[in-house]
Amino acid sequence: MSDRKIYSFYKGLFPGDVLNFSKRSPFVKEIMLERIYPRRVILPMKMHYGVPAVPIVGKGDLVKAGQCVGLPEKGAFSVPVHTGVSGKVTDIKEITLPNGIRTPAVFIENDMKRTRLDSLKPRSSLKLSATETIGVIRNAGICGMGGEGIPTAAKLARARGKAVTDFLVNCLQSEPYSTSDLTAIVEYPDYVVMGAAACARAVGAANLYFLISKDRKVERAALEASISRAKRDFEDLNIEIKLFRERFPQGYYRLVGKALYGKIIEEGETIEDICDAVLFNCSTMLACWEAISDNIPMMSRIVSLSGGSSGGHNVLVPIGTPVSELLANSYSEDSSENRIIWGNCLTGIEIDDPENTPIIKMTSVISVVRKTEIPRTACIHCGLCSECCPVSISPNIIFEMLAQGLGQKASEEGARRCISCGCCSYVCPAGIDLTSAIAEFANRGKVIEANTLLDNNAADLDYSMLPEQETAEASLLEDYSEDAGAEETKDDGSIVLPFDGGKKI
Ligand code: SF4
Ligand code: SF4
Repeated sequence: MSDRKIYSFYKGLFPGDVLNFSKRSPFVKEIMLERIYPRRVILPMKMHYGVPAVPIVGKGDLVKAGQCVGLPEKGAFSVPVHTGVSGKVTDIKEITLPNGIRTPAVFIENDMKRTRLDSLKPRSSLKLSATETIGVIRNAGICGMGGEGIPTAAKLARARGKAVTDFLVNCLQSEPYSTSDLTAIVEYPDYVVMGAAACARAVGAANLYFLISKDRKVERAALEASISRAKRDFEDLNIEIKLFRERFPQGYYRLVGKALYGKIIEEGETIEDICDAVLFNCSTMLACWEAISDNIPMMSRIVSLSGGSSGGHNVLVPIGTPVSELLANSYSEDSSENRIIWGNCLTGIEIDDPENTPIIKMTSVISVVRKTEIPRTACIHCGLCSECCPVSISPNIIFEMLAQGLGQKASEEGARRCISCGCCSYVCPAGIDLTSAIAEFANRGKVIEANTLLDNNAADLDYSMLPEQETAEASLLEDYSEDAGAEETKDDGSIVLPFDGGKKI
């Protein structure tokens, strides 16, 4: 089921480094059973790459779990937002997320009744065309859960338009103390595999590859068992597992392109164009199958809560849960001794208002780390930062250039290749925060991969065949099967998923 080769990029941080917390942490083996029902949720209208959705509920409105509370404006590059709790809308106002994004947000007080929309039930038929599959995913508000939150439907449509051959699923979660993706694989392997297979078929890929660390034996076993089951429904797909070394930041698309295909993806280029492949996060695939199979929009996610004396937990929470509610359910120690990080402890952002900071669609981990101040000294030219930089630039030299205002020279040294991984700051014995300075420079005016989706959105992505978006009263998810079920193939050449009607895994 997998070839014998072990893939990897060079450098980075790897086992033996102090960084390898999550492997030593007991929570890898813990069964994810905890669910948190927060007293309220804060739903930002922009949790994704693109423009914010527009609130379609008003203060005082009663809402049900699964209901859409924010819709993109017509023609906007955006995704809808749904509530994962039932209750009352208490406020709609602008908030600022820790990453600096200002966005309208809908505040909902949870009535703890867990009243769901009637439409959230398994789809009566799973015969969906490619266009309908992408339509369901778009209307479910799904965006990439592991990175920049690129709308999944737009990325699928682009991959289909470019006729990629390989569909890659990133199961390589390598961030310290972060195992939410790995937990998703162990808890819901069939959903991950079926979601990936359905999406791979929707884009017309011939190969479906799951990328996972060779050391993740439990997760591999779960994937292999699910792949065996899925092969019955997807005989035409070549499904394989590709093994990678345990290393941080394994899984970043440019590093995957180099490791798997030996190709260099320059800044602004896409993995579709250079490698004929498209890469998705495994938790995103789980969300896709929930939408396709069970008609459930993106309204909850698994989050790792890690660090501190309580070890680590993985919890299933409604999107919008305030960070304080996670902490209240897990920590008893004095929080003033800790830093709360929104994200992982290498690349995340420290927050000081957990009460008003929500879990968003891309939040895979909340890290709690002890407050320590590393004494800052001058660079001692040890070379550790260059040794670990995964894109092979010299952070100390670039840092010096930037400090002297020599931006052009820093660019020539490769500063714009920085992927903000945080490795250089982590290893620096002089306590120099190299990452902030270099990443800030690299991200200034950066053309990220998603921009090609924005540029091409009107021209290349054919949304004309997708159903019109619904109004506030109903779920955004329609049962497209009523029309699609009668035909095996479509005139437009789209692909029909070969599921049995009503089949449930
Ligand atoms: S310079 Fe950028 S890519 Fe290189 S180690 Fe530092 S943060 Fe990572
Ligand atoms: S790791 Fe720190 S001290 Fe060592 S060369 Fe890099 S900047 Fe200088």
